[in-house]
This record gives sequence, structure tokens and C-alpha cells, in this order.
Amino acid sequence: MERADRMEQGNDRLAPIMEDDATLETLIGDLGIVVLMVATVHLTGDLDLLRRWPKPRAMRFTADSSGQFTAEQEATIRADALTAIKAYRDAGSPAPYRPTAPEILEMASFMGAAEVSDAYLGPLVEELEGAADPRAFRWSRDVGAAAKARHPVLVIGAGMSGILAAIRLQQAGIPFRVVEKNPGAGGTWHENRYPGCRVDIPSTAYSFSFMQDYQWPSLYSVQADLEAYFQACVDRYGLAPHIDYGVEAIRCDWDEERRLWSIRLRAADGGEEIAEARSVVSAVGFLNRPFVPTIPGADEFNGRAFHTARWPADLALEGKRIAVIGNAATGMQAIPELAKAASSLTIFQRTPQYLSIHPEYHRPIRTGEAWAVAHLPYFAGWMRALASNWPNDREPKHMLIDPEWPQDGLSVSAANAGARQRYVAAIEGALAGRPDLIDKVTPRYPAFTKRPCVTSGGFYEAIKQDHVTLVTEGIARFTADGIVDNDGVSHPLDIVVFATGFDVQKFVSPILFHGRGGVELHDHWGSLPGGYLGIVVPNFPNFYMMYGPGTNLGYNGNQIFNAECQVRFVTGAIGKAIEADLDAIEIRAEVTEDYLERTRAKLRQFVWSAGHSTSYFRNANGEVTTNSPWSLLQYWQWTKAPSLGDFEIWPRKTDAAHAQGADVAP
Ligand code: NAP
Repeated sequence: MERADRMEQGNDRLAPIMEDDATLETLIGDLGIVVLMVATVHLTGDLDLLRRWPKPRAMRFTADSSGQFTAEQEATIRADALTAIKAYRDAGSPAPYRPTAPEILEMASFMGAAEVSDAYLGPLVEELEGAADPRAFRWSRDVGAAAKARHPVLVIGAGMSGILAAIRLQQAGIPFRVVEKNPGAGGTWHENRYPGCRVDIPSTAYSFSFMQDYQWPSLYSVQADLEAYFQACVDRYGLAPHIDYGVEAIRCDWDEERRLWSIRLRAADGGEEIAEARSVVSAVGFLNRPFVPTIPGADEFNGRAFHTARWPADLALEGKRIAVIGNAATGMQAIPELAKAASSLTIFQRTPQYLSIHPEYHRPIRTGEAWAVAHLPYFAGWMRALASNWPNDREPKHMLIDPEWPQDGLSVSAANAGARQRYVAAIEGALAGRPDLIDKVTPRYPAFTKRPCVTSGGFYEAIKQDHVTLVTEGIARFTADGIVDNDGVSHPLDIVVFATGFDVQKFVSPILFHGRGGVELHDHWGSLPGGYLGIVVPNFPNFYMMYGPGTNLGYNGNQIFNAECQVRFVTGAIGKAIEADLDAIEIRAEVTEDYLERTRAKLRQFVWSAGHSTSYFRNANGEVTTNSPWSLLQYWQWTKAPSLGDFEIWPRKTDAAHAQGADVAP
């Protein structure tokens, strides 16, 4: 069982509380009541602060911290918290109370309004500890500088995953270089600059566990704030000297004789270089290569047409006749913003989407919340835990196919049908009085077949406007002046925005990886990309993937949590290879096959596999290749400490032995 007897350090960066009573009262008024209650325990050590109240009710939406107490109860709770915070201030903001393991679980269960089992203690405490960074890389023995120097690592990509890999390699003292094709850091948050772009996970959770003391302007951050955060990570950890911007990896070849990767790099000016590294970490992202469908006549169009991830910096929208093709997560975010500027907006919808309307999706971080992150011990950690919703980390009944359920094409189980009902009721509420629109936007396939989109409701508001047209007839062709739909209606346009998603199935493309025997990774995979834990692939020694096949989260958590798990496995494996004086390690085929078989069997139970509607989750044969069917806890457990027993190993050759083709005894 994973155990932490007590919370350890953390919260090193907190400022002492200096505010007067009246200011504190105002600030506390901004705080979600449940997080406030749990954080106050750290000031007093008194669990009665929670125990004397009824349990909060289940969250109505992600990161709902209201607890649904009565106004009277809430007033008393806030008054008690204010008393505790004043006493803590008057005592000089001393070291906070560090709850015991059962107390942490009690606090988490109280906050999540459901039991959090002790299996969760490990990941939960890691997430709460913040700057103490329990997930930091740690050697199990002193290996010396020479051993580390023998194992240089090349990281491809300086997005969220690449920056994380760089931070961990730096902590380990392993030499590394990062190449990034873009001129700046941030990956997807550098590239996607379309109006309305923002994350759909609260930033309190969509941030590194060790850098959660960040002053986010909004609960759900916009693109510019996310890009700034990742740049701040680069700055805080001094990564700039290690990152080469404007450099793209083209092809990687495993040199079996020398046991290292030879990587062809191309700079923005076209100049090429061959780099060498003992290990390669692909952190190229999952939603990285834009997909633009082929539409007849596209070359004839006289206006501007581009993908959302390639938004032109010089583009003026005011008064323009704009079209958006595609209405999934990206389109949903862009449409309300484009509607504000356009003289006309035409939306080409192929398939309606299920939308989760979130009342706080566009809300700024309140002054009191920003203050609490900087001053209240563990407040940021508990905000994070609230958004991560640990009690929700279990098999999602509403996404599993019930073989007994009459498969009517609209639902796959009773729970799934219930979810659909709630989505449809929300559509009917948002578009009351517009049966024409309700009919057009109501999905006729089971909920969760695709990833539901989060919205403030702006899409429904947009399509009600007179200058916005929702076209569901399909696109026939482009003309010089615009688009003609399948009903023969011409739509005159100045700008066409492709919100048509990404080439998801071609993982790590267009980079070519030639492993042992010269086999290319995509040929090795065929139509079924995969790897052990989505990270390592047989035949590809010393090669690691971040956000690889089968790691897209389908029902809980967020990709930064997953990336922290993956990087722990990656640096753990590299570290063990160095400690064992190995040149190379390669995941064993049978370990991988066993994992993939179990994963595929599990995936077949999910609505994603049922084949209703289009979905980037599935390959051309209808098999789900992108998603993980596992809980966060399972993935955390499996990635925590890689075992060399799962790998083929190649002990180190000395330079002399290299010449003779012999190994050095470990
Ligand atoms: P997507 O989910 O792949 O959706 C592509 C859209 O384009 C769909 O509406 C699709 O219609 C349409 N489309 C594709 N080909 C078409 C064609 N030939 N003709 C007409 N329409 C076509 O792409 P996305 O919206 O960019 O989202 C991808 C993922 O990015 C999301 O699932 C999410 O993981 C991530 N994302 C997240 C956020 C966020 O954090 N809030 C924001 C944006 C994106 P069909 O439905 O008929 O296939």
C-alpha cells in the first residue's frame, strides 16, 4: 500500500499574512467554502472544523466548491475560518499543521463528498505538496558525473511534456538538449492562437504539481496565459540554454553498434545537423499536426483559408464574412468570438456535439483566491485536488457498454442514456423557443462517443444571432467567392477557418524513427500504434514517448498529471540504466503485448469503441488507439517505478570493448 505517514514540507514559497482583519474578511469572502474549510485545518490542526458540519453535497460542475451549505451555515463557517486565519497571522504565520494519513483522506473525502480510499494517499499527497516536489527525480545510489555524461538525452519538443522532461533531467544531472520546431515554448499553447482558445481543465489542476503557486488570471486559462506559464517554467528552471528553437527533428536512427540514436535535425533556415543521444524522448504532442480536409475547388477561393492552429497574426476580422468548418472543441471556442466581429458567420456543422455548459468556464480568479494561493498553506494544493476530483477516479458507468441494454444507437447503457437526457435538456433550455436550432444541434449518437466540449454556453448564444447561419447540409465545393453547400446554396465568404482537428492517428509523425534492424516505427505499428504504458516500444531501445498512443485521458484527470506519471517512468528507466551501467534498455515484447491486450480488451467495453459517429479516437479499422481506459491511480501505480526486469538490457561497452564488440561486465 502506498503510504505517506504525514505531509512533509511544501508551501515553501508562501508569504506571511500581514493583512488587517477587515481585509482578511473581504478576501475570505472570495473563497470557495469547501476548499476554505479544508485549508483551515492546516492552520489549526482541528478536524472538528469539518466534522461538526454535514458533508458537502456532490459537485454540480467541475471544481464546484460551494458544498451547497445554507447561507446561515456558510456565514458561521466563514467566521470560524476568519478567526483561525487571524490567529495564524498573529502567531507570525508559523509552519502549518501537517495532517496524518487518515486525516488527509478524511479531508479529501469531505471535500469530494465521497470516500477517497487509502490507495489514493500516494498521488494525493504528491499533488498537495507543491514546491516540495515529491515526484522529483531521485537517484538510488551515487553514480558519478562520468556515468551521467555517457547518457546524453535528446528531448523533441518544448511543449508541456518536453519542458517537464527537461526539468526532471536537469534535476537528475543527466545532460540533455531540447529541440523545438517553433520559435517559442508551449507546444499546443504556443501554436493555437485562434480567438477564444482556452483550456477546459481548471488551471489550478492543469499546471505542474511542483509549480502550483502560480497566479493564474482565470480559473480556466486562455491560450496567452498558458503560453506565459510554460515560459515561466522555462525561466524558473533555467532551461533556456538547453532549448534550441526553430529546430525540427526529421529522422532518428538507432545505431546498433554504438548503441545511441543518431538524429537528423533541420533548422528553420534549412540547415541540417546530425545530433547524437543515448536516449530520445519524443514530446511532440498528440494534437499537433493540423488536419485539413480536401474540398473540391479549394485552390480557386480568393479569400483567406487556414487551420485554427495556423491563425494568421495579421488577420483583421471586423466586418468580414467568415465561415467555420468544424464545430468540436476548437470550433466551439472560436465561434462565439468570431460571431462578435464578423458581419456574417456561417458554421458548417457535419455532426452535432454534446456540450457541457459550465457556469464558471469564463470566470476570472477572484482577488481572495489569488491571495490565498500566495498566503494560505496548502490552499493551492486543495484547489488542485478539488479540480482533480479524486472520488471520480473510477470506472465511468456512463461510458461503458451494457451488453444487456437495447442498443438503439442513442445510448449504450442506462447511465449513458441518463447522461444523454441531461445533455439534451440543457440544449432545450439554452435554445428554448428555437425548435429549428434544437433539432440541428441535438446529437443522434450516444454521449461520450466523442470527447464532450466544455462551453460557457456561448455557442448556443452565437447561433441564435441573425447574422449567424448554421449549415448542416454539408459542403459541396469552394468557389472563388466562397462555399457552395450540398443544397446548392452559395455562401459568399472572405475568410474560411478550418476547425477540423488534427492528424491524430499518425503518432509522432512526421518524424521517422528507425529502431533495431532498421524497422521504422510506423511500419512496426501498422494501423495499431501502441506501447507499454504508451511510453516504450519493443525494437526501439532507449526511446520514450510522452503522450503516446493509448494515453489520452477519456474520463478523469488531466494530461499534466499523466505527463508527470510518464516522465517519472521515463527518467526512472534512464536513471536505472545509468545506475546499472547499461548502454541500452528495450521493453520486452511479451510485457508490451500483455499490456496492450489487456488495454484493448478494456477499451472494447467503452462507448468510444461502439462505432457510433466519427471520432478521432478510432483508426480506420474502428479500433480505439488514442485513449486510456485506466484510472489515474492505476497509471500512477504502474509508472511510479519502472522495473529493469521488464526490459532487455545491453551492458556498457568501454571504448576499447566497443572496438572489439565486447560488453563491460556490469
Ligand atoms: P476534432 O475534435 O477532431 O473535431 C474536428 C471537427 O471538424 C469536427 O466537428 C468534425 O466533424 C469536423 N470535420 C472534420 N473533417 C470535416 C470535413 N471533411 N467536413 C466537415 N467537417 C469536418 O478537433 P478539435 O475541435 O480541434 O478538437 C480536438 C481535440 O483538441 C479535442 O478533443 C480536445 O482534446 C482538444 N482541444 C481542447 C480544447 C480545450 O482544452 N478546451 C480546445 C480545443 C481542442 P465530425 O464531428 O463530423 O467529425
